[in-house]
Amino acid sequence: MKRLTYFKVSVVVLPEIFDALNNFLFEKGAKGTVEEERTIVAYFDHQVNQDELIQSVSAYLHDLRSVFEKDFDIDISCEEIQDQDWAEEWKKNVKPILIGYNILVKPSWERTPDKSPRIVIEIDPEMAFGSGEHCTTTMLLQFIEEIEPVDMHVLDIGTGTGILAICAIKCGAFRVDACDIDPVASLTAQKNCKKNRVDSSVYIFSGSINSIKSQNYDLICANINRQLIVQMLPRMSVLLKENGTCLLSGILNTEKDKIVNTCKKAGLFVNDIKHDKEWLAFETRKE
Ligand code: SAH
Repeated sequence: MKRLTYFKVSVVVLPEIFDALNNFLFEKGAKGTVEEERTIVAYFDHQVNQDELIQSVSAYLHDLRSVFEKDFDIDISCEEIQDQDWAEEWKKNVKPILIGYNILVKPSWERTPDKSPRIVIEIDPEMAFGSGEHCTTTMLLQFIEEIEPVDMHVLDIGTGTGILAICAIKCGAFRVDACDIDPVASLTAQKNCKKNRVDSSVYIFSGSINSIKSQNYDLICANINRQLIVQMLPRMSVLLKENGTCLLSGILNTEKDKIVNTCKKAGLFVNDIKHDKEWLAFETRKE
């Protein structure tokens, strides 16, 4: 008997609203998204309230129409698919990517090229976010590479595939604690850590920042979204050592001031900001 597992939603839109819609779909609980030429395909657990989801995506697109002042068509289609289809679907879309100066992110089945960069990270994303393709991830990978976290104790909040945690260890960190509220992501992160032989240095658990007791991190990374970052910043600051660094991503251009102000209130000084398309990533320091 075939088991239906995922609810697939395809939305045909203008490329300039891809990022905003992608962010929205993750906020609505998408387990993964794939960007095709003019379409975003998002995968949800099949138990999601399908009618409510479609209505909210449609309402959001109508709002975007007025924000962008463009009269684009709204074309949403959906279907239920089986988990074996998903397994094949994500494999089609992951390719080796060069990031920063020294990082190659690749799926496990691709050969490592002879002249590959110094840091090779093998990621099989399966159902988790963090293939290395999205700029919210790549900007944090670049920050980690620049910081060179040698002997640092790192916290990775919302680890997804584990990509940032693995990168931190390969750049010299001695230990990473990594959490994700999605148990499926935690499991994927564990598998990826094993593939990269860093599992003895990365401690992964299902949960949020609230379960963390240690207050001694040299470096904290969080690629989540503006709302959650604003909520978590005071706690992140408490968990950081003096002069520790906190890297934030998942923030839109329009949200810059809000983040800068919240950092200030939490005692974090904004040291550097990277931007790519409409996304920003922050490097902050505990004062
Ligand atoms: N760190 C990866 C994945 C980022 S996606 C990267 O940079 O590519 C964001 C992840 O945060 C998702 O896996 C999601 O499940 C997780 N998440 C969302 N809310 C969270 C919370 N409150 N606490 C911990 N993880 C959370």
